[in-house]
Amino acid sequence: MGRLILRAAEEAGVPLTRDYNGAQQTGAARVQTTTFQGARWSANAAYLREARARPNLFLRTRSFVTRLVLEGVRARGVRYERGGHEHVAYATREVILSAGAVNSPAILMHSGIGPADHLQQLGIPVVQPLPVGHNLMDHTALIATSTTTNQSLAPSVAEIMLNPKSHVNYFKKRTGPLTSTGTFEAVSFHEIEGTSFHVPGWPDVEILYASVTPAPTAKTASLFRITRSTYDRMLRQLESKPIILSGIWRLRPKSRGRIYLLDRNTSTPPQIDLNAFSDPEDVEVVLDGVRTYQKILASPSFQKVGARLLDTPVPGCEQLLFDSDDYWRCAIRQFSLPIYHQCGTCKMGPPGDPTAVVTPELKVVGVERLRVVDASIMPLVTSGHLQFPSYMIGEKAADMIKQEHSK
Ligand SMILES: Cc1cc2nc3c(=O)[nH]c(=O)nc-3n(C[C@H](O)[C@H](O)[C@H](O)COP(=O)(O)OP(=O)(O)OC[C@H]3O[C@@H](n4cnc5c(N)ncnc54)[C@H](O)[C@@H]3O)c2cc1C
Repeated sequence: MGRLILRAAEEAGVPLTRDYNGAQQTGAARVQTTTFQGARWSANAAYLREARARPNLFLRTRSFVTRLVLEGVRARGVRYERGGHEHVAYATREVILSAGAVNSPAILMHSGIGPADHLQQLGIPVVQPLPVGHNLMDHTALIATSTTTNQSLAPSVAEIMLNPKSHVNYFKKRTGPLTSTGTFEAVSFHEIEGTSFHVPGWPDVEILYASVTPAPTAKTASLFRITRSTYDRMLRQLESKPIILSGIWRLRPKSRGRIYLLDRNTSTPPQIDLNAFSDPEDVEVVLDGVRTYQKILASPSFQKVGARLLDTPVPGCEQLLFDSDDYWRCAIRQFSLPIYHQCGTCKMGPPGDPTAVVTPELKVVGVERLRVVDASIMPLVTSGHLQFPSYMIGEKAADMIKQEHSK
């Protein structure tokens, strides 16, 4: 299906890009992954495995950090729970917090570093007032654009798994469908001029295409919090049909959410208020993405396989004329998913920036010996997926830390 999408995109006037992580992001391309020898290559595999034997590396798993150990505004270590007991780890030089965009701000707030009014409401003594947890961003994707075709565009998972050749190829030669990107085969990035944060060369919308044969069941849909009644009304008709699942993503949204604490108990999960589409511009940008997708669907290559947009209205939007702009505005608000690209909640900023939580060296403003190194420091979400930029934040921080401590 990947080839078909690239052909269709070209026919619709979308340029092809060979490497969307390179000089030209805008355009259509095959999906790239962090893969090595036919298998997904995680940060653990890429960085930690080969460092495991180092005498200066000590890893403690199954450990849950609850708070920082602070002496005034000086970080000394962390408190953590393991096996039902509380432990403390002290840092010789500095503490580096890398618990991700949800939990890094939570740990800071439990330690008294955060918005003063919020901490005071919870009875947490304020050590350093900072806008921790604000500026939450994610990529949110409209998924109401399922498309049926008159033929299967890719082998089904069952066909692949039941074919002994798939396994022989994977284990002996590291080739074949088991080394592929699964159902996600192609992606296209589009620029929409005039939108906030638009910079020529940086896309504002992403369309991710997956061939799914057969269509997802009610059980799979429930994993995405699609209710049974929505499934029955909208998606059940697709069962056993070959479909293209396309997600239309707003990249670099204007809307901002927030991570906050519900109480002082460190085992209560923090609250994620994404506040997606609170800024109407984000809705308009995705609407533009829908129209772009429809142009690609109208291409000769897609028409040859009978591509047809599912025209059963999204529940909650039935009163609006299907395919009108207002219908899509409603569908975008009703039938979009967060893509788990949360970031921005310990924002990096220059000196004097009242919205910054960390400095350009990733040091927590006003606190000594404490850095945050993860996706939470991004001032603005990237226009691509976050795994790789998160590795780069780690690499850059490692360089800065080595440079500083070797002085
Ligand atoms: C389901 C899913 C699928 C994704 N797929 C993709 C993809 O295909 N491509 C892509 O580019 N991006 C993808 N992402 C996004 C990407 O994984 C994240 O943006 C990236 O991992 C962020 O890196 P991070 O270091 O900020 O946080 P994380 O990778 O979340 O690392 C934080 C670490 O801290 C640990 N931790 C958290 N709290 C505590 C605590 N209190 N004590 C001790 N340890 C703690 C966590 O266990 C975790 O290991 C996906 C995310 C999700 C959730």
